[in-house]
This record gives sequence, structure tokens and C-alpha cells, in this order.
Amino acid sequence: MADPRMLRPCYRCLLRDMDKDAYFDQLQAYIDRMAAEERAEEALYEERLQICTSCSELVSGMCRSCGCFVELRAAMRKGRCPYDKW
Ligand code: SF4
Repeated sequence: MADPRMLRPCYRCLLRDMDKDAYFDQLQAYIDRMAAEERAEEALYEERLQICTSCSELVSGMCRSCGCFVELRAAMRKGRCPYDKW
């Protein structure tokens, strides 16, 4: 039987306490639930991520410069790169 903690969103867990796949699923679900007016257009989102994937600051999905998950930052319409690459 699956761990019941993995069947519902957890907003107060530390990363070390979470299953990595579940954490990614929650991050993606958070992005999917963003209001349209807060969310970057899909083409802009993909363009931003393309830039991140060629940047030396990207490590395991996180930006070493700002410490954020770039997929979340890039999804925000008002999101910006700390080095103004996008
Ligand atoms: S947000 Fe900017 S500095 Fe960070 S990984 Fe992306 S391009 Fe690089």
C-alpha cells in the first residue's frame, strides 16, 4: 500500500522528507494551477527554459544564482533571470 503522505499535496514538507517524484509532480501541479494572468505564455516559458539549460548556473533544475527551481520561475509572467539572460 502506498504511503498516504504521497497521495495528497504537502505544502509544509521539507524536500528531504519528500519522495523526489512526488515533489516534481507537486511543482508541476503548482505551475498548472497558476492563474492565466500570472503565467508566462508557453512559447516564452520554453524559450526561458532553453536559455537555462545552456547556462552554467543550472544544477539539477535549480538556479545556483537565485536558488529557485527554474521551471517555476520561468512559468511566472513577471519572473526574471537574476543575470538578465531572460
Ligand atoms: S535563471 Fe538565469 S542564471 Fe539562473 S539558470 Fe536560468 S539563465 Fe542561468
